[in-house]
Formats: sequence, C-alpha cells, structure tokens
Amino acid sequence: MTKTPLKVSRRTRNKALKLQQLVWLECTHKVLFSEPYPAMDDIIWCFKCQEEKLVIHAPTDYRVSCMLCTFSNTFGRAKLQAEIAAGKHRVQRGPAHIVEIFDGNVLVNTFGDRNQNETSMLPLSDEEPPF
Ligand SMILES: [Zn+2]
Ligand SMILES: [Zn+2]
Repeated sequence: MTKTPLKVSRRTRNKALKLQQLVWLECTHKVLFSEPYPAMDDIIWCFKCQEEKLVIHAPTDYRVSCMLCTFSNTFGRAKLQAEIAAGKHRVQRGPAHIVEIFDGNVLVNTFGDRNQNETSMLPLSDEEPPF
C-alpha cells in the first residue's frame, strides 16, 4: 500500500492569510483588522487609548437586507452585485419586499416601491427608526 504524505507548503498557508485593512478610530488611531472588519459607527477597543472608541472609517462592506423576510447577504466591495441581488429578490418575492443596502452600518440605498429608480429622493419618513 502506498502512503502519500500531505504536503503543507508555507506558500499555500501564506496565501490563505486574510487581507488586513486599516480601520480609523475617532481618536485618529488606526488599527489593522482582518475579516470580519468592523463597520462604521461600531465601537471597538483602542489599545493605544485604553478606551472604547467609535469607528469613523471602515473598509467598504456592502450588505443587503430585506425588511419583510429574513433575506440578507454580504458582498464585500461588490456594490453592483449587492444591487443585483436586491433587485432579483424583489422580482422573485414581490414588490412588498423592500431591500436595503448597507455599507457596514450605514444605509446607502433602498430598493422599494417608491424610489426604485431614484436614489436622490429625500429619505422616507413613514417608518419608525429601529431603535
Ligand atoms: Zn486611540
Ligand atoms: Zn424579502
């Protein structure tokens, strides 16, 4: 019988390392993070200040979320993919499914009845904020 040893090459392992990105904090300190990245408005621990600080700039991380059902997905930097998924969900599930696109925690677009083709409309005010 033959035995093939598993080759673990360092090169391969290095490739598997996740990309690190800088996150800016309100205290102007920058922290390197690998995925999952914190989002804007998150509170994270600053080791230099020894205090919790607000994230003021985080890597782009697009996320879609349906207001009616549990549909949600993340797309990293692929905004177009997020928009396609949002549109597709509404086609498949019906116009009652209003899909929001977030960059981290920040709402960047809403795929709904009234502003499907307009991104420059004033924010709709007929909904209670979720907090
Ligand atoms: Zn700091
Ligand atoms: Zn839905």
